[in-house]
Amino acid sequence: MVDLKGQYNDIRDVVNPSIQEVLENTTFINGPKVHEFQKNLEQYLGVKHVIPCANGTDALQIAMMGLGLKPGDEIITADFTFAATVEVIALLQLTPVLVDVNEDDFNINIEAIKKVITPKTKAIVPVHLFGQCANMEAIMEIAQEHNLFVIEDNAQAIGASYTYKDGSKAKAGTIGHVASTSFFPSKNLGCYGDGGAIFTNDDDLAHTIRGIVNHGMYERYHHDVVGVNSRLDSIQAAVLDAKLPHLDTYNKARQNAAKKYDEAFKTHENVITPIVSNGCQDTCDTCDCHVFHQYTLRIKGIDRDALVKHLNAHDIPCGVYYPIPLHNQKAYKDERYKEDDFNITNQLVKEVVSLPMHTELDNEQIEYITSTIIKFING
Ligand SMILES: *Cc1c(COP(=O)(O)O)cnc(C)c1O
Repeated sequence: MVDLKGQYNDIRDVVNPSIQEVLENTTFINGPKVHEFQKNLEQYLGVKHVIPCANGTDALQIAMMGLGLKPGDEIITADFTFAATVEVIALLQLTPVLVDVNEDDFNINIEAIKKVITPKTKAIVPVHLFGQCANMEAIMEIAQEHNLFVIEDNAQAIGASYTYKDGSKAKAGTIGHVASTSFFPSKNLGCYGDGGAIFTNDDDLAHTIRGIVNHGMYERYHHDVVGVNSRLDSIQAAVLDAKLPHLDTYNKARQNAAKKYDEAFKTHENVITPIVSNGCQDTCDTCDCHVFHQYTLRIKGIDRDALVKHLNAHDIPCGVYYPIPLHNQKAYKDERYKEDDFNITNQLVKEVVSLPMHTELDNEQIEYITSTIIKFING
């Protein structure tokens, strides 16, 4: 699904000495590399504060802690996402309220959000799934009207832009009150271990969060709030700082691969290729509305699981993200949920398949993958 080796080979001359430098000066924790990367990412995103932490799941949890959410507060998020999002809501004894998504872009559905708002609702967590933003303009309007926080789960869309109706743009993760991201190796900006970060433009919230990631300390050995221990280590920061200047090129390579996939499936009506929603009017060569963390097809009228088996038998890795709706996961079942409220997610879990997607895909590989799929479809 991903080719981390090829990407590493291209940047080893920068990454190796940078890691070596950390080894030589032994500043493994809170070293200068962490600060440098933080500053560079702030500048790249155009956001006031980046607070690095240990992983994307922590980032979400810490964002929620920073907002002062309390047990019983209802937090709305998407049914069709990775479990981390709902997991931290439950861990903090907040009440997750799962809602359905859109069929075409897989992102949280605006009408579904409106239906579940109660006086207890305190936040919305849109997940920018597979590499493009949820409908942030509508979400921010709802949030303003009902006085809710918006926490963007930006683990899958770093480097993507969101285009407002008036044509102006903002980077994913800089629109809500706070955002989280993950630097897990397979993400669009991945390190060589675990890593994550929180973004915000709010000075007070940033200050609160900087204490939370460090045991609730604002002054050495004074613990003002209950915190956690969540740090990005210096070696990971060195890797990320070496990769950040290439992020746009990496995302462009993903878009180019996506374009070739699109082209190959154009005439096959059983295969629905991903769309760019909330997109800008730019030509695709300059558009950064979708950064294709995953390239996810919907398979209609054909047995998706049989296709997956066929691909695996031909040494083509593929993934089903996600095979089970969160509302049907044992840990997150709730009697308030009705199957009818999740018609789209229930359908998507049977139709989706994600193809190999990374920065090193070449024409030959894409040709092999697409022709294998098309041969299967044509029987
Ligand atoms: C990867 C991911 C996370 C969690 O990130 P980790 O760094 O693995 O903890 C959270 N949300 C989404 C949508 C993700 O894809």
